[in-house]
Amino acid sequence: MTARFSIRLTVAAAGLLVASAVGGTAHAAPDDPVSWRVPADPAQAVELARAGFDVTRSDSGAVYVVGDRAVAAQVRARGFAPAFFDTVYKGIETRAAGDTFYGGYRTVAAQETHLAKVAAAHPDLATEYPLGQSWRKVQGKGGHDIKAICLTKKQSGDCTLSPTSPKPKFVLMAQIHAREISTGELAWRWIDYLADGYATDATAKAILDTTEVWVVPIANPDGVDIVASGGNAPKLQRKNANTSRGNCSGTNIGVDLNRNSTFRWGADSNSPCAETYQGTGAGSEPETQALEKLFRAIYPVQRGTGDNDPAPDTARGTMITLHSFGNDIVIPWGFTSSRSPNDAAYRKLGAKFNAANGYLVGTNEETVGYSTSGTTDDFTYGALGVASFTFEVGAQSGTCGGFLPRYSCVDSTFWPKNKGAFITAAHAAAAPYRQ
Ligand SMILES: [Zn+2]
Repeated sequence: MTARFSIRLTVAAAGLLVASAVGGTAHAAPDDPVSWRVPADPAQAVELARAGFDVTRSDSGAVYVVGDRAVAAQVRARGFAPAFFDTVYKGIETRAAGDTFYGGYRTVAAQETHLAKVAAAHPDLATEYPLGQSWRKVQGKGGHDIKAICLTKKQSGDCTLSPTSPKPKFVLMAQIHAREISTGELAWRWIDYLADGYATDATAKAILDTTEVWVVPIANPDGVDIVASGGNAPKLQRKNANTSRGNCSGTNIGVDLNRNSTFRWGADSNSPCAETYQGTGAGSEPETQALEKLFRAIYPVQRGTGDNDPAPDTARGTMITLHSFGNDIVIPWGFTSSRSPNDAAYRKLGAKFNAANGYLVGTNEETVGYSTSGTTDDFTYGALGVASFTFEVGAQSGTCGGFLPRYSCVDSTFWPKNKGAFITAAHAAAAPYRQ
């Protein structure tokens, strides 16, 4: 039961996969994980997501499920008709080896070195913080600290992990789902744009003069280690590396950290090997605890406890959690199909993001097509009243689509599209609900 919805890679298939990726042909071996288009109505989309399938996106009358042929067979056994949609691997580009994989994507070690270098090079602008430890580190099995960098032109009280520090705050976080590899690269570019741009770019200067910008480039470092261990054929690890339940194997191990937050936790999968496994309890995972500790440190509670209590117009703070893929800007709520009490303001700010990146603005139901519980953005909005968004970066298919777009897509497409949205989010941090 627990392994029913697994994405399995046999040793033989893994060998084929490396060969095809190195060859750059981007044609999937028979047992590679790929996208399947599954005709389904909204209720059926919910059924598939609840059953633990990795339902990435719906369009008119269909959802997309990621998995190998065994997963497709499980979908078929439920009476659906999955059809091959897209390969996952896009081939690699030649680039010097080092702290990168799959043509240039940074490893966790490279991201950690980057944060330390930025902090050292810009002591007037940047402060690095460990937020907590990953599951493997807690277990004494390697692992990492979860790290954040705070960027601002430092004045008294700035970047001190205080809810009452003077400047409004914008938090950008990435790769809580490890395999959504373009997102950590966007965090990297955002950090460099602000830290390097302060001296030369009027917009970067204006942001850092007025705003605390927090960035968590790798929210799930153990998962990213697993992804990067595949090298030119990255492993499709979504969750953290927690192996304590379910005897799961391969990329089925772990808890889905974007189903583990403490606000309205508990309506997702209880199957440890499922892609959307929510964990044994609200906030059970050390990565979730580290993130929530950061958010609770820097943001006051600005909203009542009722689902229909709006964050007041005077509330401050913006948050974007980066995911892929689908070209969506997802607004609360995730846990219910009811609109949030700040829905109109969310759509106004979402429209400004859309003006930069062109992504579709809407609730879960209007975008990805299924409800979610225990997500990061439901927590930051629901518990703290921060204006919180999920971006699904990139198209569903093509060279710059899917989980593993070509590395060059980051600079050709994703960064140019999203830079303006991040700037907007920073500017909006002072009064996100008064747009
Ligand atoms: Zn995701």
